[in-house]
Amino acid sequence: MPVALHGTGVSRGIALGPARLLQRGHPEIPEYVLPAALIEEEVARFLGALETARAQLRAIRQQIPAGTPSDIAAFIDTHLLMLEDATLATVPVDLIRSEHCNAEWALAMQQEALTRAFDQMDDAYLRTRRDDVEHAIMRVQQILLDQTQREEAIAAEAEGGRIIVTDDLSPGELVLLHQHGVAAIVTEHGGPMSHVAILARSLGIPAVVGMHHAWQYIRDNETLVVDGRQGVLLAGLDAAGLAFYRARQQQEKRARAALRRLKDTPAVTTDGTPIALFANIELPEDIQAARRVGAAGIGLYRTEFLYMNRSAPPDEEEQYRAYSKVVKALKGKPVTIRTLDLGADKTTDGAAPERGVTNPALGLRAVRLCLREPELFRPQLRAILRASAHGQVRLLIPMITTLHEVRQVHELIEEAKAELRQRRQPYAADIAIGGMIEVPAAAICAEDFARRLDFLSIGTNDLIQYTLAADRMDDAINHLYQPLHPAVLRLIHTTLQAGREAGIPVTMCGEMAGDPLLTRLLLGLGLTEFSVPPPVLLEVKRIITDSELEPLRRVARSILRQDDVDQSAALLAELND
Ligand code: PEP
Ligand code: MG
Repeated sequence: MPVALHGTGVSRGIALGPARLLQRGHPEIPEYVLPAALIEEEVARFLGALETARAQLRAIRQQIPAGTPSDIAAFIDTHLLMLEDATLATVPVDLIRSEHCNAEWALAMQQEALTRAFDQMDDAYLRTRRDDVEHAIMRVQQILLDQTQREEAIAAEAEGGRIIVTDDLSPGELVLLHQHGVAAIVTEHGGPMSHVAILARSLGIPAVVGMHHAWQYIRDNETLVVDGRQGVLLAGLDAAGLAFYRARQQQEKRARAALRRLKDTPAVTTDGTPIALFANIELPEDIQAARRVGAAGIGLYRTEFLYMNRSAPPDEEEQYRAYSKVVKALKGKPVTIRTLDLGADKTTDGAAPERGVTNPALGLRAVRLCLREPELFRPQLRAILRASAHGQVRLLIPMITTLHEVRQVHELIEEAKAELRQRRQPYAADIAIGGMIEVPAAAICAEDFARRLDFLSIGTNDLIQYTLAADRMDDAINHLYQPLHPAVLRLIHTTLQAGREAGIPVTMCGEMAGDPLLTRLLLGLGLTEFSVPPPVLLEVKRIITDSELEPLRRVARSILRQDDVDQSAALLAELND
């Protein structure tokens, strides 16, 4: 009998192949007290395991084939950095010496402390760093426990285009699976922002995450179908069912090839309205991905990634080098550099949140933190200004809530410019300063912000969660994370209108902009600048080039009048039909 299991589709594509069930499980961690005479020997055993883990990661990194997206190597580097950081390299040694405990136990105690700190973070991306810590620690634990055969097993399992069904995967394991031709992956854990999801998208491996209890229904070696778009895993299909999915797989391949041909086609609607299609990037290395899809520029460069996994923030020079690398590579196309979006709870070194902060998402983060700590902010402003001498830079301020903040940022920018003039360092005097609309207050008062800023950028990820008071990573209230909620759509509409009236551009850089199912609605609402993850850019472009604006405006107007998400969803489905 056919079985259909549902999870979250995080990387599109249809795959057919034999199942391989892999369970990582969690190793039993032994706990014992050591006599004083054996403590240094235990420290040496721990340090040896750490070195072996680093050597393994370096080897995996070297095996990454040329042309693989740079974020893959970046994820491996993240694990390497973690294994070099004092939180993992030194604290367990201190614990072995002070508690006289064995290395596995010392590492487990430190893992618990770090997991607690990460669990309290409110930022979806940073919270996925907890997975990194777990994967890095697991590697060392397996070496200490002499259980290192999983990776070799994984490599063998992937042979023959198998579909791997597992509880969890580390970035290193995913790279191995990719090299050995895995057809698709299905994991029990992880969400759309987990590293497995991000990497699977970059590597083009169909993937479904959050597939609970698959083990109860799937047998090793039976033929499975994975639909990474719908988030479905099918088993027990008959010959006709399999033939149907084979045909759909071929169709998808042809569609992807057709999309690639759109790279140099202008993003213009059928009635001749040009639409700007920018890319979101996190690291300078991501420029390649943006270039491959012919992005018109960078609509969101999230700079916080430069600050992560290190004990001290990058200095002005290091930031200048990173930003100018991106700006030069874009050769005159716009690059929107967003200033630091970290928060009190989201420390760069995994330390525990400040005491007494009960609502970190509503606390000291993004521009609030930067204004509280100008010594952190000033070097970044100077670095961005200096990079502006090399091309077209737009400076974007995250999470603006009040006009007072805008004034303060403008003052700091003027001070930074004065300092650069004194140093005789060049910058673009007319650099555009924009603000992210991601707090409902900013959207409601968008016209006030639009009068004082050169552009606006709608951050729908935060705008949705603040408007609906719904953390999108919290499974329990996932149903409330609704991009089509009338309040969200009306705030977007208000912001777009404010931009039009003030004569300034409004970009959307949150995930909504990159959801092809929403492209027509956003066009109808009047959005003309999209900034999206590179892998979805061409699909959004295909829809744009097929769209005529007037009918979309009519449907968008009627969706705006709806008071019910289901009705809006039904109208949208008709629009997309
Ligand atoms: C957003 O909130 O939509 C956004 C683009 O910012 P981030 O996802 O980095 O919070
Ligand atoms: Mg945001």
